[in-house]
Amino acid sequence: MLDPHLINDPFGDPGVFLELRHRKEAFLLDMGDLTSLPPRKILKVTHAFVTHTHMDHFIGFDHFLRVSLGRDQKVHLFGPPGFMNNVEGKFGAYTWNLVGNYTNRLHFLVTEAGGSRRKTARYDCSRGFRRESVGESEANGDLLVDRDDLTVRGVLLDHKVPCLALAIEEKRHIHIKKNALDEMNLPVGPWLGELKRSILRNDPDGMEIEVRGRRADSESSGLRFPLGLLRDRIVRIAAGEKVAYVADAVYSEENRRKIVELAAGARVLIVEAPFLQEDRERAFQKFHLTAAQAGSLAREAGAKNLVVFHFSPMYRSREDELVREAREAFRGPLPDAEDSLSEMPPDS
Ligand SMILES: [Zn+2]
Repeated sequence: MLDPHLINDPFGDPGVFLELRHRKEAFLLDMGDLTSLPPRKILKVTHAFVTHTHMDHFIGFDHFLRVSLGRDQKVHLFGPPGFMNNVEGKFGAYTWNLVGNYTNRLHFLVTEAGGSRRKTARYDCSRGFRRESVGESEANGDLLVDRDDLTVRGVLLDHKVPCLALAIEEKRHIHIKKNALDEMNLPVGPWLGELKRSILRNDPDGMEIEVRGRRADSESSGLRFPLGLLRDRIVRIAAGEKVAYVADAVYSEENRRKIVELAAGARVLIVEAPFLQEDRERAFQKFHLTAAQAGSLAREAGAKNLVVFHFSPMYRSREDELVREAREAFRGPLPDAEDSLSEMPPDS
């Protein structure tokens, strides 16, 4: 299950903590101010995606690094073209003469997304975070991560600089049928998480799964069942969920098309809405969306839920107006794209 939460209030720095419930791990979408995230959450992060390196989206990297130092952690970092230089600027800001003695294996694998080639480099704590080139490969379309449980796609939007928009999609979603569990007299407990992970890994049907925990009415702890039998009896497998994240972007025809395609059918679209539609010219000049535009993008994409954030401080006392405007556009009729675009200044 994908469980996304905004890290800060909607006026604060952008960032989403996306918990992967079935894996005990988490992804970060943007690295703005992260100081409100407890270290135990930061240490669960295996992948962080930085949409672009404007300060409010990347300043939290220092905090992340500080919490992670001295730990055995492997972190995949993704960013737009030129991202490696930005990451190296962060590493280069500090003196690393003592880390050679560290026995932990903290390292970062940094990938620049976008373009037809994909560059990845490794930065190891024990070597003072110097760049070690890992390689370059042909990009597989917009696919950034392809694992047995999920994919992450990223497309570059126009924010005067390239800005990565993201869609995280589970391949399958596993539900436990509570009544079937009752019929077999089996307890709920962490063993069901292991069962789910086994199914997602496509472990063989004959593999034995041990039931742990007990029910008041029976002693089932320690029983073993073949994976195939449990999958057939107590599990329902559904299509996976999708979470889409769109940070900074101007409202242009090309961005609109890319966002709608990326976020199609998402369970939740998290999208910036810094300005009210009455200030759409200002939004356009700053290469940002309005709340109405955010809402209509979610509607056009067929998203089931909409979360808006990254509000401009000029609306400090008008948060409800931003939310209402986005919500009305989300639920209301689809605007004629041509009409709403023609309201923009002519140099679009
Ligand atoms: Zn921003």
